[in-house]
Order: sequence, then C-alpha cells, then structure tokens
Amino acid sequence: MDVTLAITWLRAVADSVAADADELTKLDSAIGDGDHGVNLRRGFTAVTALLDGTEFTGVGDVFVRTGGTLISKVGGASGPLYGSAFRALGKALPPGPVVTLPDLAGGLRAGLDAVSALGGAIPGDKTIVDAYRPALAAFEEAVIGGAALPEAAAGAARAAGDGARATISLTARKGRASYLGERSAGHQDPGATSTWLIFQALADVTAP
Ligand code: ADP
Ligand code: MG
Repeated sequence: MDVTLAITWLRAVADSVAADADELTKLDSAIGDGDHGVNLRRGFTAVTALLDGTEFTGVGDVFVRTGGTLISKVGGASGPLYGSAFRALGKALPPGPVVTLPDLAGGLRAGLDAVSALGGAIPGDKTIVDAYRPALAAFEEAVIGGAALPEAAAGAARAAGDGARATISLTARKGRASYLGERSAGHQDPGATSTWLIFQALADVTAP
C-alpha cells in the first residue's frame, strides 16, 4: 500500500459513510441515540478536508493524522474508538511512502488492539469488535496464504459483513445499547455496520 492508495481508501470510506449515514443513524436510533451516521459523516468530512490540504510523506502519517482528526471531530463512543484504531494502525507501520501487506496486517491488528484496550469489548458484546475481529482474521489468513491485497481485502470485507449481520441476535454488553439489555437483540449494531463499510471500501478500491 502506498500513500495514494491509503488516501483513496479513506476517501472511499468518506463517500460510503456519507451515502449510508441515514441507514447508520436508523440502526443507532433503534438501540442507541441515533447519531452514529451523523457522527461518522462529520468525522470523515473532516478527514476529507485533511487529505485535500496535506502533503503526506508516509503511509503511517496518513492514518495517524486521520485518527487524530476523528478523535477531535467525532462526538460519541465511535470517534475515540475509530480514531484510536487509525492512529494505532499508522503508528504500527514502518515509515516511508510504501508498506508491505504483512505491515498492513500488523497495523490492522494494532488497530483492533487499540479498540479493545480503549473500549474493553470482547467478541459477542455487539460492538465494532464483532466485525473488526473476523475481518482481521480473514485478512491475516489470506496474507499468510500468499494472497495479494485485493483478495485479502475482499475476504476481510465479507467476514466483516457476516460479523455485522451476526450482531442482530446479540444482546449488547458495551456502549449505549447495553442500557437496553435484552431489548437490544433483534437489531444490527451500528458500529459493527460502519466497520463493515470501512473494510468494504478497501475491497472496492483495490478490486481488480
Ligand atoms: P454513542 O454510542 O456515544 O452515541 P456512536 O453512536 O457514534 O456513539 O457509536 C455507537 C457504536 O459504538 C456502537 O454501535 C458500538 O458498535 C460502538 N461501541 C460502543 N461502545 C463500544 C466499546 N466499548 N467497544 C467497541 N465498540 C463500542
Ligand atoms: Mg450513538
């Protein structure tokens, strides 16, 4: 992955979040406070402005600055969580304008570790982790198996989508939705859904 691809990915995430903001907000209205789409659209609009106005020398810088922007612009739980994930991804990458596929896999793992450390969620809690963890596992497995980025990203996106859909039956144990207890079951988690959008954007921009 080079600087241009990193930027292309983040722009695709911004487009996708903007296109699906109403859907994300609808999901968050069912089990949260109805601001997830608005939160992420605000954050990724600021990321787009950052990308427009900055000359980046390293792939890691792109993600570190993106993370910082999300932390400062997004209210709610998801801003610090996604912001920390992108910062950790960026910090884990070696410096320079190009990183390898194993570097990227390691960075994505650092991102999940950051989400887990900050939010304390484990698999099954009906959160971002329920899409991110299977996506990372699929990505790592593909990389170990010798796949190129398009294939690894497509596998990760599929696994994230499966993980997001599987949150429907779960009872939330973290975040606002946990206040609803068992009434949170029967609704897809908004954060897991936006995590799927993020991995799907990577699959889309790398697809042959
Ligand atoms: P808020 O809940 O503060 O309104 P958002 O609506 O932007 O923030 O984001 C809600 C999403 O954040 C949830 O759907 C869930 O996926 C995710 N989330 C909440 N708490 C946690 C946590 N502790 N760990 C991981 N993800 C979490
Ligand atoms: Mg919310």
